[in-house]
Amino acid sequence: MSFFTQTQEFIKKCVDELGVEPAVYEFLKEPRKTVIVNIPVRMDDGSIKTFIGYRAQHNNALGPYKGGIRFHPDVTLDEVKALATLMTLKTAIIDGIPYGGGKGGVVVDPTKLSKGELQRLSRGYMRAIAWFIGPDKDIPAPDVGTNPQIMAWMADEYSYIRRQNEHHVITGKPLELGGSRGRTQATSRGVMFIAQKACQKVGIDFKGSKVVIQGFGNVGGNAAYLFGKEGAKVIAVGDVYGSIYNEDGFDVDDLMAYYKENGTVSTYPKAQKISNSELLELECDILVPAALENQITKDNAANLKCKILVEGANGPTTAEADEIINKTDILVCPDVLANAGGVVVSYFEWVQGNYHFQWTEETVNAELKEKMYNAFDRIYEMAQERNVPMRKAAYMAGIKRLADAMRLRGWR
Ligand code: NAD
Repeated sequence: MSFFTQTQEFIKKCVDELGVEPAVYEFLKEPRKTVIVNIPVRMDDGSIKTFIGYRAQHNNALGPYKGGIRFHPDVTLDEVKALATLMTLKTAIIDGIPYGGGKGGVVVDPTKLSKGELQRLSRGYMRAIAWFIGPDKDIPAPDVGTNPQIMAWMADEYSYIRRQNEHHVITGKPLELGGSRGRTQATSRGVMFIAQKACQKVGIDFKGSKVVIQGFGNVGGNAAYLFGKEGAKVIAVGDVYGSIYNEDGFDVDDLMAYYKENGTVSTYPKAQKISNSELLELECDILVPAALENQITKDNAANLKCKILVEGANGPTTAEADEIINKTDILVCPDVLANAGGVVVSYFEWVQGNYHFQWTEETVNAELKEKMYNAFDRIYEMAQERNVPMRKAAYMAGIKRLADAMRLRGWR
């Protein structure tokens, strides 16, 4: 079953179990609109290469479509549609976020492009979708393989097309161009807040807890750093090149400095090398998959030895794996809840952009903490009340808010 089909099927189950109108599923089963674009880019050697790009707008009952742009060689239409659907649920779960869900992607390995080629591709993608998006219509952001510099090029291209400054069409921008303080670490900080809450429920002291993190990019790398700084013991991390283990816990300042210099943690010397599959099966308190989807499958789910699973990545656990884990005592904090910190601070960035004022980092982090803690409490309570796993409770909470909004709007 594909990532998108799994997502659709799970929504169907939750709609049925909630007992809301069947129309809710009719609205949520497919994105409202999707575009496929071909982006010609002049390469450094003078040749022209065409890249395929997508933008899916899933649902805007609660507000403008919102969701990141992924640059990765394995991007597919199915994946973009699934990720857009998860965004609709994520924004609906967090109280007070006035957004719908969307997602974009380009089939490219950005590490194989020069800086100039990457800039031309980013601008080309924006030119291709500019008519489709807008600051009150659809607001993109970074995801896997994209970063604040790419958001800056895209914001500049959009403003050039519109012949006026409209940088708030995109979030995750550098501070100098209207980015928000705290945005780069926001997803990871949110993951940490959710992990702290989960520890309280399971009866583990967050300080000193043993943490394993898969992926060392924006989400995983910053999570390792923040968990370490807040007193947790990060015992294993890994990226696409390999994984490393240190039973005493890493010095996260040193690990981060090494990563910044070398672009990978797999060769970090003060650790034991382990395989990427061994990493997921290590004994620990908190496991944070923060790489890509489909990492925990029916083949390794039964081997997990964590007490809490906090999904930093989108869709890291397949439906079959989820069923296996639900039979264990592992407390699962699902992606739509656990990694929502990024979209929360993207929302703060958009608010700041709309009224041209910058908040302090303390304000951003405090507001984020309140939203994440509240969301956890609400979902946890719902899970207890209905006797369902956290993932189902989270989907049901999101679907209920969407159903209420769509009913009020008159099902258009
Ligand atoms: P990124 O490109 O910055 O980092 C991805 C990391 O995963 C890299 O370290 C890469 O080496 C590693 N990786 C890739 N394939 C791997 C594999 N097979 N095994 C082990 N490691 C592997 O991406 P990111 O922005 O950190 O996003 C990671 C995940 O978090 C994605 O699922 C993304 O959708 C999700 N997410 C990101 C944000 C955000 O704000 N960036 C917000 C919410 C969710």
